[in-house]
Amino acid sequence: MSSNSARLDAIRAITTYKPEPADFNFHETSPMDVYSCNVFNDRVMRERLPRDVYKALQKTIRYGETLDPGIADTVAAVMKDWAIEHGATHYTHIFYPLNGQTAEKHDSLFTPDGMGGVIAEFSGSMLIRGEADGSSFPSGGLRSTFEARGYTAWDVTSPAYLQENPNGIILCIPTMFLSWKGVSLDKKTPMIRAGQALNREAKRVLGLFGVHTDLPIVAYAGLEQEYFLIDNNYTFARPDLLAAGRTLFGARPPKGQEFSDQYFGVIPQRVLSFMMEAERKLYKLGVPVQTRHNEVAPSQYEIAPLFEPANVAVDHNHQIMAVLRNTAKHYGLKCLLHEKPFNFINGSGKHLNYSIGNADLGTLFNPGDTPQSNAKFLIFCAAFIRAVHKYGGLLRATVASASNDHRLGANEAPPAIMSIFLGDQLTNVFEAFRSGHFEHADGGAKKSMNIGVDTLPPLPRDPGDRNRTSPVAFVGNRFEFRALGSSQSAADSITALNAMMADSLGFAADWLESMLKKGHSFNEALQSFVSHVIEEHSAVIFNGDGYSEAWHKEAVRRGLPDLRNTPEAMPELVKPEVIDLFERMHIMNRDELRAREEIYLGQYSKTIHTEAVLCVRMARTDIYPSGLRYQKELADTCVSLKNLNKDYRTDTLD
Ligand code: ADP
Ligand code: MG
Repeated sequence: MSSNSARLDAIRAITTYKPEPADFNFHETSPMDVYSCNVFNDRVMRERLPRDVYKALQKTIRYGETLDPGIADTVAAVMKDWAIEHGATHYTHIFYPLNGQTAEKHDSLFTPDGMGGVIAEFSGSMLIRGEADGSSFPSGGLRSTFEARGYTAWDVTSPAYLQENPNGIILCIPTMFLSWKGVSLDKKTPMIRAGQALNREAKRVLGLFGVHTDLPIVAYAGLEQEYFLIDNNYTFARPDLLAAGRTLFGARPPKGQEFSDQYFGVIPQRVLSFMMEAERKLYKLGVPVQTRHNEVAPSQYEIAPLFEPANVAVDHNHQIMAVLRNTAKHYGLKCLLHEKPFNFINGSGKHLNYSIGNADLGTLFNPGDTPQSNAKFLIFCAAFIRAVHKYGGLLRATVASASNDHRLGANEAPPAIMSIFLGDQLTNVFEAFRSGHFEHADGGAKKSMNIGVDTLPPLPRDPGDRNRTSPVAFVGNRFEFRALGSSQSAADSITALNAMMADSLGFAADWLESMLKKGHSFNEALQSFVSHVIEEHSAVIFNGDGYSEAWHKEAVRRGLPDLRNTPEAMPELVKPEVIDLFERMHIMNRDELRAREEIYLGQYSKTIHTEAVLCVRMARTDIYPSGLRYQKELADTCVSLKNLNKDYRTDTLD
């Protein structure tokens, strides 16, 4: 428990703490000097790879074509030389097993040469495929222990990079983790498969607009990461913070966040120094960190990079979490990524800003300037509305965890009911499709119009008001999904969003194609699709206060699932329509989904169990003895008072 001396040490540290010298001379170098210097990036590849190999590799990275295994040896040799020049001694295949962690097993780049020395060795097959004895990772019955081996497979679309440690450097290769039968045992494989499904179905819709693009259509993600920083003196005095990541006992702070004096407040100097060092390390890893600020709760902060293709953004977010944790130590701080480290003040989330597009077309959630881009926007936006309405339960399940249960549904994070905030203007536009009255659809320009590609009303670019109570909000050119927990990988939510969108876009393409086949004009087809979506799915649109009790009642009336905790949410993963969705889109089969449900529920009960054991242990070893000590102190005081009185009486009697 936090003792007086821990408190005094923490207070002293504020004024006397001197961090070890940072790894950077901040005055003489700029981010430009170091940005991406530890990444096997496009520039390095272009400079070092033979031209034909570079071109072949780019086809896979940029255009999503299957990797030509013939080039792997050359790429591996070049990657090895580059890494060793930078001081690397080991390499590792980085992957995300289903326990939610980042996993890495290091292997030396050097092998004995048989003559008493060593040679550097890193072949194409070592780059493409690694063996991982996966028996200790949860598999949810997907892999029995007698066939425990799994393998890791190179994800060419996410760049390899160098991880620095004061005593050495490791070449890290982002990979997928699968069983020998090709069953996915990780979070990346389904995300990549879902990305392929999204590309396929989005291109069908775009084709109907006559839009063709060589680049794949991808999901973009911008992940805002919240975290707490606590002085290490406090952390080490708290077994609960150390073992559970949150406090299990404690008093309400006399001053919390009630003065609203934290958000965007001046960043304390020690914290700012920490942030600058963390950012500089992230620049070296090519993570485009952009924004930093104080968050709502005391000692709570946020870091946000620029959005990137979702697969890379997820890898970068895992790196951000690791760098924050490591750098904090350097400043005598502990970085807490738990969703609710302290009761009575806000917890931490991770906002997923999600959009769809590519470098040619920009983001397809952007209303745009021309009637044609507005029409595309309406289709993609309508598809999104349908997706969240149809698969809201699935989306909810992807953010369920024991720690996130403390946030969702409390009045600080979005409610557990999945709804979409569109803003009034855009809602009016969609409502107009249902009523057939477009005279108010452009926000009151009082003229009647026939909706159609040529005559669409100008669409609002910004929803105006920023509704913070909605789990999914339209914010001008993207949707912001705000229910993720701070410690979670965004991979599961992105997988679900991509799968749901692929399904909805496929549905849109089928609808439009069949209308066109029946001889309707494109305008008529578009209008009937959007009307259909609004007729069937507008229940998911809610622009009001998501925190109000009335909304819970209203949501139930609208038939939206209100899944208040993890045990209620997780079974959504194996609902027949969800299994059907993932199987149709070739992302995961029934067994892979069942395994996830089992593993995540297991994770949930283990967390609760650990916290319960910890509570009992702390009560026995810390709180109960303190109580006894205090009792003894009281008893001793009574005895000594009694003795004093006795002496006094004796004195006076004498
Ligand atoms: P907020 O005001 O919501 O806190 P921030 O600036 O903290 O905004 O974060 C917004 C995030 O959204 C950034 O990561 C930004 O790069 C990302 N973003 C911006 N445009 C898009 C887009 N089209 N698709 C995905 N993410 C985007
Ligand atoms: Mg922000």
